[in-house]
Amino acid sequence: MRILFVSSEVFPFSKTGGLADVAGALPEALVREGHDVLVVSPWYKTLKAEPAPLWIGDVEVPFDGGTSSCGVGTLERAGVRYAFVGHEDFQRDSLYGFEDDTKRFARFSRAAFQTAERVNFTPDIVHANDWHTGYVPMILQHGYHLPAGFPHLPSVFTVHNVQYQGHGELDATLYWLRLPAALRDGPLNYFGGANAMQAGASYAQRITTVSPTYAEEMQRAEYGYGLDGTFQHLSDKLVGILNGLDTELWNPAEDEHLAKRYSLKRRSGKRQNKEALCARYGLDPAKPLMGVVSRLADQKGIDFLLDALPQLFHQGWNIFILGSGESWMEDALARESRERAELASHIGYDESLAHLVYAASDALAVPSRFEPCGLSQMIAMRYGTIPVARETGGLKDTIRHGETGFLFAHPNADGLAWASAQAASLYAHDKQWQKMMRTAMQEDFSWEKSARAYLSLYQELI
Ligand code: ADP
Repeated sequence: MRILFVSSEVFPFSKTGGLADVAGALPEALVREGHDVLVVSPWYKTLKAEPAPLWIGDVEVPFDGGTSSCGVGTLERAGVRYAFVGHEDFQRDSLYGFEDDTKRFARFSRAAFQTAERVNFTPDIVHANDWHTGYVPMILQHGYHLPAGFPHLPSVFTVHNVQYQGHGELDATLYWLRLPAALRDGPLNYFGGANAMQAGASYAQRITTVSPTYAEEMQRAEYGYGLDGTFQHLSDKLVGILNGLDTELWNPAEDEHLAKRYSLKRRSGKRQNKEALCARYGLDPAKPLMGVVSRLADQKGIDFLLDALPQLFHQGWNIFILGSGESWMEDALARESRERAELASHIGYDESLAHLVYAASDALAVPSRFEPCGLSQMIAMRYGTIPVARETGGLKDTIRHGETGFLFAHPNADGLAWASAQAASLYAHDKQWQKMMRTAMQEDFSWEKSARAYLSLYQELI
């Protein structure tokens, strides 16, 4: 099978969150199952590729009432082919957060097809991800200005996070995409504006999201961010497939970022990672250590974790937070860390430090208000670090309360403190804590199972 996978970020080349991890790992797992995958992603100024992609020429992309020249760079990694779309739109210091984001990713979505053609890749199926590529299923369905072999190809659209939907202007979006104005009454239209996620979900033959529980939750007003009705309406073609974890990248026995490597059988090395982190940040290694590795956004519940700090300290926890995001949260964290000996933080995005935090911590707090799948809790379990997490989305589907971690229902300080207290009291009984660690470390989060679920979905559509 030939699969065209379109994503606005892909690890290790670009990443702001879990989407990149999925776009990095799923295509590799599909290749291991014997299929051909081309991943198309933007050629960001910040692209991390050594050596850089090989520029093979430009393509003329139908866009903005005419055509737009985009460069194409290619490389191959672990059997997966990559094609990067170059344009000055992507020559910026960060991936997202600009006023013209909808136009930038409309251009990228439009360019995906000519780019695939340029590298002689005619797919059997197209897999688009999140709002940035929500335009892709719509373009395919209508077939306008597509290379031969592309019109009406079946597509799958994966929702990684409903919160970000790509709101834009309706007429402008259709004009950029070179689609007929008559489509303004179709599913791109969200209360008179354009909604890229709604378009992707509506025009794709199947919608997937990254956990079965989130597939239910996104149909409810409290989680749907205004698209709950849309997803209810589309529920017949919506399915939740849990993400896997890149178990080679996240393997405490081989992890180069650790102070000491360790494994299920030889767990004692975990302690040295705790000592290393505590020494570096002035924490007390004799106390149970709760780590956090997270974007600092409303979704992640770090605000009520801050409210819960007095209770957590009272329970005996030392806390280390690695995170970046909203500036008020960064400032509050930095301030609290200066004032409290039991709390340390590193504000910023630091891949290497993240590995050490997973290894060093006894528990990992994941107090998300919503969590489509979540990778950090799976990484934690693989590193023998017990997740203390909100019972929502993929957290609920991957953590077994009382066996591999602790779950709490209420997204507030008391809810988190309730579960943390249980973790603290188990920690005091080393034998039972070790048992939970062992169970958590043995959970199977490999990509093979998920890859097969995607494959059978593709197969149904071809
Ligand atoms: P989301 O995609 O919503 O951010 P996930 O849990 O699915 O949440 O994925 C988060 C990924 O980003 C994990 O691999 C986590 O280790 C990583 N991560 C988050 N914040 C940081 C940070 N400040 N530094 C390094 N890695 C981070």
